[in-house]
Amino acid sequence: MRVLPLFFGLCWCALAGAATPPPAPTQASGAGAVFAAELQATANRLVGQALQGNTAYAIVESLATEVGPRLAGTAAEARAREWAVAKLQALGFSNVHIEPFEIPLWLRGVETAEVLSPYPQPLVITALGASPATAPEGVAGEVVAFASLAQLQRVPAGSLAGKIVFIDEMMTRTQDGSGYGVAVAKRLGAGVAAARAGASAALIRSVGTGRDRFPHTGLMLAADENAAPAVPAAALAAPDADQLRRLLGRGQPVSVKLVITPRSLPPAPSGNVIAEIPGSQAPAEIVLLGAHLDSWDLGTGAIDDGAGIGIVVGAAQLLLEHLPHKPRRTVRVVLFGAEEVGYGGARAYALEHAQELPRHVIAAESDFGTGDIWRFDTAVAPERIAAAEAIGELLRPLGIGPGSNSARGGSDLGYISKAGVPVVDLKQNGWDYFDLHHTANDTLDKIAPGDLDQNVAAYAAFIYLVADSEVSFR
Ligand SMILES: [Zn+2]
Repeated sequence: MRVLPLFFGLCWCALAGAATPPPAPTQASGAGAVFAAELQATANRLVGQALQGNTAYAIVESLATEVGPRLAGTAAEARAREWAVAKLQALGFSNVHIEPFEIPLWLRGVETAEVLSPYPQPLVITALGASPATAPEGVAGEVVAFASLAQLQRVPAGSLAGKIVFIDEMMTRTQDGSGYGVAVAKRLGAGVAAARAGASAALIRSVGTGRDRFPHTGLMLAADENAAPAVPAAALAAPDADQLRRLLGRGQPVSVKLVITPRSLPPAPSGNVIAEIPGSQAPAEIVLLGAHLDSWDLGTGAIDDGAGIGIVVGAAQLLLEHLPHKPRRTVRVVLFGAEEVGYGGARAYALEHAQELPRHVIAAESDFGTGDIWRFDTAVAPERIAAAEAIGELLRPLGIGPGSNSARGGSDLGYISKAGVPVVDLKQNGWDYFDLHHTANDTLDKIAPGDLDQNVAAYAAFIYLVADSEVSFR
């Protein structure tokens, strides 16, 4: 399926979901050949400090509690920006400011579904982001099930008039998130494929690995590459997808009714929040640390991506508070807006900062929940791999193994990575991440205060080593 340029990745998520080749055997380089002993000692001190517990949890606790859900383009996302400015200023960062931009606004409405026959009963659903609405009284039709998006795409155009399609594909649980990269195709494409087939609406089994009765939302394509609009589309909670599968297995026609009333509105304000630790000797050179400030509207975005906000702000805060001197280069924290709805903040940052992208030394984003980091992937010039490996060597005591040189960076780094900025992936264990992802169950109680410390330690050591040295990755 062709994906519109705007959506070349899709939440964390499709970007990091691609399979990466196994790590190449490393040449022994030795961190000492790249980083002075004093730098290494300081990095290790930061690690020790991080592992004692720092304020990463306090940051996500504050965001998830005082702001809560923060859908892009809404007043709640604006409050998240105000929260971030106040927090970053209070922590002592410099140049704290908002860089505004606009995005199309989509607001959730009523969302209900029910089986009409042969065994009437309600189903738990949620509308997919950017979905059009049904008529206020809903749409009803016989369900036609497909095992995959590809199978639906193969039916003759117009052959499913009056039907409601159901894509019943399971997502595979993986440590590296690669199962999501596969499963997300049906969420993106079900609405336009169903429209092409002439169907009235589309249902999908939620893109997620949870067994609880929480449907997973997430962005879909509102139109195909020829601007033909999608039909209304919604995700069923896993137990409800199971139920519909069993009903269809009885051999009789199954009719369902779907009512979803989201609204697509004119462009609304969003923005990125920037904060810096200005470099002491080479302030024009930038080490970028990102996470995304917006969330879906169903939960409080504690995991996606409050955890990432806590990790990157907590790591930079360690540098602010525990270094004997400011690092040589500027450490820039970017809290991106509008990630979930199509990377508005990523695009705005790449445009706004196009002139200085050649002076971005490296960039990393935290957007994969609370699992420990287990692997260090890079995307640096081949002749710079030794420097990247030297960092990897210093991360090894944290349980982080060497990776490949085919990192893709977080989803908000897609545009700047394409523009030539080197990126790394501090890859977290995502085994449980998609149990909660984009559901109403993404709430703070899923994070224990110590959960983020290993992440903070790795990010702090990584950004310090790069920011206080002259190492290049280009
Ligand atoms: Zn995310």
